[in-house]
Amino acid sequence: MQFSSKLLEQAVDEFGRLPGVGKKTALRLVLHLLKQPDGEVSRFTGSINDLKEHIRYCRTCFNIADQDTCEICSASKRDHETICVVEDTRDVMAIENTNQYQGVYHVLGGLISPMDGVGPTDLKIDALLERLRTGEVKEVILALSATMEGDTTIFYLYRKLKDFNVQISTIARGIAFGGELEYVDELTLGRSIATRVPYERNN
Ligand SMILES: [Zn+2]
Repeated sequence: MQFSSKLLEQAVDEFGRLPGVGKKTALRLVLHLLKQPDGEVSRFTGSINDLKEHIRYCRTCFNIADQDTCEICSASKRDHETICVVEDTRDVMAIENTNQYQGVYHVLGGLISPMDGVGPTDLKIDALLERLRTGEVKEVILALSATMEGDTTIFYLYRKLKDFNVQISTIARGIAFGGELEYVDELTLGRSIATRVPYERNN
């Protein structure tokens, strides 16, 4: 791609770094921004700056939040005896959209993946075990994607969790078409959470 301006090229390069955005799309986005009034562009860049600067992670479940404790963890009407373990915040959003789950969450921040150099200590696993040590939790639902990394992580977690006095469940992952939880439709995901099964019996 030949650019008539270094600044244009630089902006296109930055947009092109985003996942799923090719050079052509990046150019289209940048040209679109150029056409916007100044206020619009400032709002756009401002929201990105705010995001990085002010966003927090809930100190209990590690979901993205605006406060030290997220709205789900601080809600008294949620069932704090049930923890649903997920890979990232997109899964929390997908499960919340089903309106079928009243428990709380624990966001691992990824899956164990030796190929990508992600080991158990890179994830919020110790923090999960810490939550179980309070004795308040009765059930842990492992809602991880039906991929090799998901399987590896579930097996690792199971070995860590089995010594605690908690029920360990998994969601019906056979239905997770394409693997990722976020792509499963709400009805199917909601049903699979409602009909979750004990891990031991499932495997
Ligand atoms: Zn939280």
